[in-house]
Amino acid sequence: MPELAYDAVVIGGGHNGLTAAAYLARAGRKVLVLERRHVLGGAAVTEEVFPGFKFSVCSYVVSLLRPDIIRELDLPRHGLEILPLDGTFTPMPNGDYLWRVNDHARTRREIARHSKLDAEAYDEYGKAMVEMARFVKPILDMTPPDPLSLNPRDLMKAVFLGRRFHGLADIDRYNQLQLMTMSAVDFLDQWFETDVLKATMSASGIIGTFLGVRSPGTAYVLLHHYMGEIDGAFRSWGFARGGTGAISNAIASAAREAGVDIRTEAAVERILVREGTATGVVLTNGDEIAAQLVLSSVDPHLTFLKFLEPRHLPGEFLDEVRRYKFRGSSGKVNLALDALPDFRSMPGPGAHLRGAISISPSVDYMERAYDQAKYGEFSRRPYIDMVIPTLTDPSVAPPGKHILSCFVQYAPYHLASGTWDEQRDAFGDTVIDTLAEYAPNIRNIILHRQVLTPLDLEREFGLTEGNIFQGELTLEQLFFARPVPGWAQYTTPVRNLWMCGSATHPGGGIMGAPGRNAALRLLGQHA
Ligand SMILES: Cc1cc2nc3c(=O)[nH]c(=O)nc-3n(C[C@H](O)[C@H](O)[C@H](O)COP(=O)(O)OP(=O)(O)OC[C@H]3O[C@@H](n4cnc5c(N)ncnc54)[C@H](O)[C@@H]3O)c2cc1C
Repeated sequence: MPELAYDAVVIGGGHNGLTAAAYLARAGRKVLVLERRHVLGGAAVTEEVFPGFKFSVCSYVVSLLRPDIIRELDLPRHGLEILPLDGTFTPMPNGDYLWRVNDHARTRREIARHSKLDAEAYDEYGKAMVEMARFVKPILDMTPPDPLSLNPRDLMKAVFLGRRFHGLADIDRYNQLQLMTMSAVDFLDQWFETDVLKATMSASGIIGTFLGVRSPGTAYVLLHHYMGEIDGAFRSWGFARGGTGAISNAIASAAREAGVDIRTEAAVERILVREGTATGVVLTNGDEIAAQLVLSSVDPHLTFLKFLEPRHLPGEFLDEVRRYKFRGSSGKVNLALDALPDFRSMPGPGAHLRGAISISPSVDYMERAYDQAKYGEFSRRPYIDMVIPTLTDPSVAPPGKHILSCFVQYAPYHLASGTWDEQRDAFGDTVIDTLAEYAPNIRNIILHRQVLTPLDLEREFGLTEGNIFQGELTLEQLFFARPVPGWAQYTTPVRNLWMCGSATHPGGGIMGAPGRNAALRLLGQHA
């Protein structure tokens, strides 16, 4: 006999699954969340990996979390506190550096030190990106229209988008087209001449993709990451006090308050389907849970190729799912430190350590890092994006100790030779060797290290091929094509089976938008 029936069962207790559950429960539905791991959060998780050191194991900074979710779920009351992350420090091999901060005038002076022209262009660039982000932002919170449908709702949305586009100034329309088609570096080349500035800015165009800074299409990803930076400090990049797991825990607390049941160590093995309609799930321990609706916050590979039998899905749809690109390209190295790293280009402790620290010294460096990945090797000198959260939130480490969180690219899921289990230590060593070129004391201050390869991200977090966004954030997999053209409105070919995770519009990052959009669409409350 199936156990107690629910109105909805949500597969996966990452922040999107929890968000969807919270909205459904607030609308009076009886909801159960099933999480495979022992802890909630998915890729937005805090874990005490070494005694006293609470790592944001995967994601480490937040900016895109939708303000509507913070307000509607009253997340500050559930413990969410975002602390600002100020600036990006990019050390250079020649002992110089580029240090951009949130104080616009200071950043302008700093850029002028490298190029007066670029300091002026930086203002123009900022204004243009704000316009672009304003254009795209409402799209984040909408269910994408189906461009092939004649349904009045889809047609009205297409008209709405067309009108918005025509409402842009000519220059902004042109910029928007360029963003959609150009590489990050080509786009930035039009504004700037300073190599290190272009390199460090282009980095956000490649995060989570298997593309280089000179690959067409990466300019758009710049905008995706820029989105959180407009309209004042709150949506700038920041740390969640207690690590990124605190975000998931705040959402989980709001969900529980609304009546959601949450089970951890409850792995779904199969989605039950009767006559084309989802009727519940079966767990790996054999438990069967009946539900009127099933929402999957995991990726399309798991949802459609693992949890469902092919006979339940149209062949064309399955072909599209098989074509969906993951191509994980990133790894993570989390270090527990006895002291702070000491950078050659700006020795001693200081405000430069409180923001992001980016190893992206030149455009060629970034592109060479990609070259190796193209042929199945991890970059010997990778792009590394680091933060030291303990300088802003000392609660995550023992007194006087620090955490250095290193996001590393490229680490291709498919290696040309050997396995990731064999290469894990060498990958960790490469990251330390790279850091040592800029902060020579690093080797002497490491107490513990955690190395996560794309294979570890797949095994431990259920991220197929280790893609950090549940599938690449490339243009052909965004908006009305995410995850599959024609199925971007959170529904699936199986009746009562919905998608609500990062593999749906508007994609990855700690945003909550897929979870909220899916739930509101399901409740008939969404445009
Ligand atoms: C290394 C790394 C660094 C990142 N850095 C950042 C960052 O700094 N800032 C940012 O905004 N974003 C970052 N991201 C991306 C961001 O963390 C993710 O896009 C986001 O957390 C995904 O949320 P989600 O709820 O959609 O999916 P997930 O977090 O993937 O949640 C899915 C959940 O489903 C569970 N699950 C899997 N299989 C089963 C099963 N069979 N049964 C039940 N449950 C199952 C998983 O355990 C997981 O908890 C990063 C991601 C990674 C991996």
